[in-house]
Amino acid sequence: MNTVTRPRILVVGAGFAGVECVRRLERKLSPDEADVTLVTPFAYQLYLPLLPQVASGVLTPQSIAVSLRRSKKYRTRIIPGGAIGVDLKSKVCVIRTITDQIVNEPYDYIVLAPGSITRTFDIPGLTDHAFGMKTLAEAAYIRDHVISQLDLADASQDPDERASRLQFVVVGGGYAGTETAACLQRLTHAAVKRYPRLDPGLIKWHLIDIAPKLMPELGDKLGSSAQEILRRRGIEISLGTSIAKAGPEEVTFTDGRVIPTRTLIWTAGVVASPLIATLGAETVKGRLAVAPEMNLPGNDGVFALGDSAAVPDLAKGDDGAMCPPTAQHALRQGKHVADNVIAALRGQSMQRYVHKDLGLVVDLGGTDAVSKPLGIELRGLPAQAVARGYHWSALRTNVAKTRVMTNWLLNAVAGDDFVRTGFQTRKAARLKDFEYTDAYLTPEQVREHIEGTGRRD
Ligand SMILES: Cc1cc2nc3c(=O)[nH]c(=O)nc-3n(C[C@H](O)[C@H](O)[C@H](O)COP(=O)(O)OP(=O)(O)OC[C@H]3O[C@@H](n4cnc5c(N)ncnc54)[C@H](O)[C@@H]3O)c2cc1C
Repeated sequence: MNTVTRPRILVVGAGFAGVECVRRLERKLSPDEADVTLVTPFAYQLYLPLLPQVASGVLTPQSIAVSLRRSKKYRTRIIPGGAIGVDLKSKVCVIRTITDQIVNEPYDYIVLAPGSITRTFDIPGLTDHAFGMKTLAEAAYIRDHVISQLDLADASQDPDERASRLQFVVVGGGYAGTETAACLQRLTHAAVKRYPRLDPGLIKWHLIDIAPKLMPELGDKLGSSAQEILRRRGIEISLGTSIAKAGPEEVTFTDGRVIPTRTLIWTAGVVASPLIATLGAETVKGRLAVAPEMNLPGNDGVFALGDSAAVPDLAKGDDGAMCPPTAQHALRQGKHVADNVIAALRGQSMQRYVHKDLGLVVDLGGTDAVSKPLGIELRGLPAQAVARGYHWSALRTNVAKTRVMTNWLLNAVAGDDFVRTGFQTRKAARLKDFEYTDAYLTPEQVREHIEGTGRRD
């Protein structure tokens, strides 16, 4: 017998958008007003902008994995798993739990915040040989991998093997790729001093992008400053260039160059989570097309936000622009969507989302940084203070703030020990292995599944 009479709110994804939404729902709704459930494969909210610092060892992985169970006040029921399909008609979300059980979760209101996955192209060898920089496991793995290249090059007597192990390629000149290349170059630059047999001149980092500029959002002057900093540090930047093919020991650029390397890091943009396609609803460049209130027109109780939704960017006017996929928008949308869900629940009117971009911060490691808060162009130490201050204050819990600050101080004072943990040794760990993109159902499979299992209330 069904004894639940409260409306059921289901939030999918515990990232910037999902966690902000859940915390606000918990604060603003009384426990007998609605049941809140969160579906998430991991027990933490990942602070993605600091991922390059985990890869380079400035921060430990735990410091940017913010606990979802830090307080007794957190009363949301958490289902450990991933949503693999949503049936809008019967209002059921199909979930694969972390033990591979398939369960149906009915809802009255659903908030879709599964974020994005790495955007790949049909480039031969790409998904088999490239690493991504989108999950905590990938960042930790890349760190081990880079250190192991130094270890193996040091042990090798073969000059060709040494050369290929000491070249590194990062594709993507957005902030994710630029920060990744910059932070990892600092890692190898510092680490090589502990390998007296290795010639530091053999270490070479390449940062490439098909676009004519790095991080165009920074503007011409600041973008050139960022390039100048990277070039000064020996990172070779190739613009208007991409990858033609990737192999286990070499990468071919579209300009014909063949780079011997065992390290290809692919950060060339993101696309909405494949969960969005399972709805069979209208999308804009793969993101769910929602109204400025972040609800799905024609489907009561369905909301989407963050990287997975095409939320109109009203601050830019009415010309069809959508909010860029940034943490800055996702966390504000999370709060806003919670208010709109509550308004819908209480029969009140919903508000449109408007946020004017606050700018961009880019941490290039050490005292190198460029930032553009509120349109003010900063370089060097002031830019770094703004970048770190911004990220630090955006971390959700005081314990996470303390961990990050302690790690920054420790790293500044004591440096890095360049320890290779070996956790992932001999395990497949390329792009295709980390983002579980083949787990999702098609809209037809979702329907068949719901019809076959019956709707559980
Ligand atoms: C390296 C890097 C650096 C960045 N730097 C910046 C920066 O400096 N400033 C900035 O504003 N933005 C930055 N971003 C972008 C920013 O992190 C994203 O825009 C932001 O995380 C989007 O928030 P979200 O909640 O939509 O998605 P996410 O934060 O990615 O959260 C999505 C959550 O959903 C979970 N999930 C995925 N699929 C499912 C499923 N099927 N079922 C259930 N749960 C699921 C994921 O595990 C994750 O927890 C950076 C991103 C990267 C990768």
